[in-house]
Amino acid sequence: MEVGIVGLGLIGGSLALDLRALGYRVWGISRRVSTCRQALERGAIDAYFDWGVNLPQNTDLVVICTPIEQIIPSLAALVDYLPSTTIVTDVGSVKTPIVARGEKLWPNFIGSHPMAGNNNTGISSAVPGLFRGRPCAVVGKGDGISERVRDLWRSVGMEVYFCDAQDHDRAVAWISHLPVMISAALNLACGEESMAEVRALGQKLASSGFADTSRVGGGNPELGRMMAQMNRSALLHTLDHYQAVLTKIRQQIEREDWNNLEITLSLAQKLRGNYCPTPSS
Ligand code: NAP
Repeated sequence: MEVGIVGLGLIGGSLALDLRALGYRVWGISRRVSTCRQALERGAIDAYFDWGVNLPQNTDLVVICTPIEQIIPSLAALVDYLPSTTIVTDVGSVKTPIVARGEKLWPNFIGSHPMAGNNNTGISSAVPGLFRGRPCAVVGKGDGISERVRDLWRSVGMEVYFCDAQDHDRAVAWISHLPVMISAALNLACGEESMAEVRALGQKLASSGFADTSRVGGGNPELGRMMAQMNRSALLHTLDHYQAVLTKIRQQIEREDWNNLEITLSLAQKLRGNYCPTPSS
């Protein structure tokens, strides 16, 4: 099987490493030649190409792994150079605008979203096994080409779920985009403590709990901005709801309504189990 990866950063480079280890032939395209050379040196790809050249005619699948706002421009730049049978997918964390435009540009386009990553970027942070045991959304109903895309993600160890693009965007607003904004707000608010000595003490005492809650708010700001831009209405919906819940918690504390606060926190503990089945996850 021959696979092309466009955008050889954390996600694209990690996918390339896994696919090559599985015996796929992998070619790459990226913005900078130095990145392509590094991917070749790391054994992530067999070959790389420039934009605007005919791509291998036996390419089965292309995965676009560029920053989210470059996904559609990248697809538009590829369509004249790909064999018509090639399936194209992407990894962007928002699906509705990408799938709507992607399907118009390329009939064999199917959106994906592998739920894997970390706070690093670029080819130097690519690692094998990044996707193993993680969930992946594929926009489709499990027929024809979406099954081929499912099989690709399964081959790198992902648990694949088929879904609708709008449902995907609303779900990830809750479990991914809202947490980024809440966690960023936490980091900002802590940094605004007015007493310098209290701020400094907090920085010394911060341990695993703060590391858990602040991590996603300390990630790539460009990625966070793009999530908000492209999933604006779903994110606003979740932020409004979150603010209402936070107000309720604040009122319970202000009124010293400890019984109800404990009931609220018990419900939160129970609900978390629906998202993270093991207490330590
Ligand atoms: P990244 O490490 O910054 O990688 C993106 C790569 O795309 C860069 O290495 C850059 O390559 C290349 N690139 C930038 N502009 C380009 C262009 N115009 N044409 C071709 N290549 C271009 O970012 P990432 O974390 O891998 O994210 C990539 C995609 O994965 C995003 O769409 C994001 O929504 C999605 N995603 C990310 C995560 C996560 O946690 N990081 C999780 C799931 C999905 P050069 O080095 O050549 O400049």
